[in-house]
Amino acid sequence: MENVIIIGSGPAGLTAAIYTARANLNPMVFEGYQYGGQLMTTTEIENFPGFEEGIQGPDLMSGMREQAKRFQARLVQKDVESVNLSQLPFQVVVDGETYETKTLIIATGANAKMLGLPSEKRLIGRGVSTCATCDGFFYREKEIAMVGGGDSAMEEAIFLTKFASKVSIIHRRDQLRASKIMQERALKNPKIAFVWNSVVEDVLGAEKVEGVRLRNVKTNEVSALRCDGFFLAIGHAPNTALFEGQLELDEQKYIITKPKSTATSVPGVFAAGDVQDSKYRQAITAAGTGCMAALETERYLEAQE
Ligand code: NAP
Repeated sequence: MENVIIIGSGPAGLTAAIYTARANLNPMVFEGYQYGGQLMTTTEIENFPGFEEGIQGPDLMSGMREQAKRFQARLVQKDVESVNLSQLPFQVVVDGETYETKTLIIATGANAKMLGLPSEKRLIGRGVSTCATCDGFFYREKEIAMVGGGDSAMEEAIFLTKFASKVSIIHRRDQLRASKIMQERALKNPKIAFVWNSVVEDVLGAEKVEGVRLRNVKTNEVSALRCDGFFLAIGHAPNTALFEGQLELDEQKYIITKPKSTATSVPGVFAAGDVQDSKYRQAITAAGTGCMAALETERYLEAQE
């Protein structure tokens, strides 16, 4: 019987691992086959406090893993197949084997949605980005194309105009999904141009992004748009398939946590990081909620005893 099982190994999961390990709870962490979370696919991180010269995403994650191991957190590079939260102890099934635990910390994160183009995948980190906050800084006086029509696209495009000389928002319809106020802000920004009724068919460039190939969905006309960066803002999807029907999720399928807490709808199950946060989605906020989940787990176990 485990005190705590942690699912996920991004900043939220590993921070929870460090804290619960240092609280002598001997945590077991199912990291997933691809450990480390979203930061493993980023390059330079310049906004994580403590690294004045910046740090590479994979290096930051490797540091967090080593720190968790130093306190004997048991890291297992396997995916969780299913969980049963309807009884105590909770059950977690991995590789056909069932593990029992008194508490569970869910830190399975979210993934930025992508278009699914091979070129987009090939150039990620080399001009293709899903995070304006992370990468905008590298586009001083450069031209950016962005796809999306929601609040994120507006907000991120406006943010990117602080650096870029021009941001072209490519949207598949002729009406934005974004709230009126965000639309207005973007529409009146002189550095933002809109390309309506268009989809991105290919990201151009061998070693780095040099442009995108567009198709107008009304006229079928194909054109090329030169750019130095291609940003995706077509939404995120939380990794909550394992918990559907067992935990309260919001309409976008993010786990609902109690205000100022990581407690979920099931006592003893806590959620941290992007899996419960569609708003901030930063490594530092994920780590912060990972810490909260660990402290709440500790208190929950104390109360049970
Ligand atoms: P969203 O509201 O779901 O918008 C996604 C946008 O991407 C839509 O315009 C959609 O087009 C487009 N899109 C989706 N899949 C696409 C594809 N395969 N190809 C081309 N375009 C595609 O997502 P979001 O903007 O990330 O926002 C998520 C939530 O957070 C929303 O509730 C939003 O209001 C909120 N949010 C709020 C703020 C704020 O208030 N400051 C900031 C950010 C986010 P269609 O319109 O044609 O479907």
